[in-house]
Amino acid sequence: MKKIVDEIKACTKCELCKTATNKVIGRGSFSPKILFVGEAPGAEEDMQGKPFVGRSGMLLENWIEILGLTVNDYAITNVLKCRPPENRDPAPEEIRACLPFLKQQIKLLSPEVIVPLGKFAMQTILNDYEKTISEAVAQSFEVEGVKVFPLFHPAYYLRQGKTGENAELKKLKGFLLDGKEQLEEFIINIQTCDNLSTDEMFSPILSAVHHFCKLSNTTFKDLDQKELC
Ligand code: SF4
Repeated sequence: MKKIVDEIKACTKCELCKTATNKVIGRGSFSPKILFVGEAPGAEEDMQGKPFVGRSGMLLENWIEILGLTVNDYAITNVLKCRPPENRDPAPEEIRACLPFLKQQIKLLSPEVIVPLGKFAMQTILNDYEKTISEAVAQSFEVEGVKVFPLFHPAYYLRQGKTGENAELKKLKGFLLDGKEQLEEFIINIQTCDNLSTDEMFSPILSAVHHFCKLSNTTFKDLDQKELC
């Protein structure tokens, strides 16, 4: 992680480095279940060098509490690491220049779920620049084996005066709980298969078990109490 931090700090791949006060790299866990990805730093983030510390950040923290996430469960970053002047939209060439950093972060952090916040983060993560945020919001996708669940940017809700739970956040909460519920149902099914060997029971679905265990932070044991994940 230190290598990528040093690379971002030294980066001059686009013009934004000339006007940025600080590079805004990320914050949170180094082993998150969920990675929130915004679009770019705003004024407060640029000053402090941390993502989502302004009003949008306060709302995101509220969402994190509603989702029941602990500090070890999540990390936050942006597509762009430098603030676009006057908070203008990121230019395509700026996104292209900065994208390798985000890809490296995703690889290193290895989250279970990525939650893009807003249109630019959604389009960048899904690599679909035609899709609108209204088409993608609160839907689940998969990109290179990682679940993706886009939300509107917190600023969208702030403009409407909505500072609590919203319909899309409820869907994300349900989506995150889904893995745990499926695991519980799966355990019940497995426990009825007592005439099958462990290998016979698990070989076709072991990867699914690992996925659910990681997502739901659950330890899974077979009938001999052997820990499988
Ligand atoms: S926005 Fe990204 S690519 Fe552009 S200078 Fe900053 S770190 Fe480099």
